[in-house]
Amino acid sequence: MRIGSGYDSHRLIEGRKLIIGGVDIPFEKGLLGHSDADVLCHAIIDAILGALGLGDIGRHFPDTEDKWKDASSIDLLSSIIELMKQKNFGILWVDSTVIAERPKLQPFIEEMIKNLSSAGIPSNSINIKAKTNEGMGLIGRGEGIAAQAVCLLKAV
Ligand code: MG
Repeated sequence: MRIGSGYDSHRLIEGRKLIIGGVDIPFEKGLLGHSDADVLCHAIIDAILGALGLGDIGRHFPDTEDKWKDASSIDLLSSIIELMKQKNFGILWVDSTVIAERPKLQPFIEEMIKNLSSAGIPSNSINIKAKTNEGMGLIGRGEGIAAQAVCLLKAV
């Protein structure tokens, strides 16, 4: 068995879609990034890559490459899960937390789980938690959103 952890954060700006867990969430701002800046997918990708000992998301999808511009992070996650299968590992469990002052994410979690399962994480093997930062710091001021994930992989 292998364990991996992942963390990601992106700045909130006007004029961008807010995509978290592959869900297009109605909000006045969105996350800035080279891809769709889906913090939850990025944290999960880094957790899986960590468990595989294969570096991080930036090594696999460099933000200097045009082909990843505005890329769907659900697609990036799918390709990392394919890589995991090639390395003969399977997902036992993924636990994750998204930290956002606003908007409220709870109503979108079920749809996030559906999207993540379409990317190859079984819906009975993932948990997503949504928290605020109690008004403190950059997340509390609404400057950005962060996510954390841990995953447990089994050799298959
Ligand atoms: Mg990111």
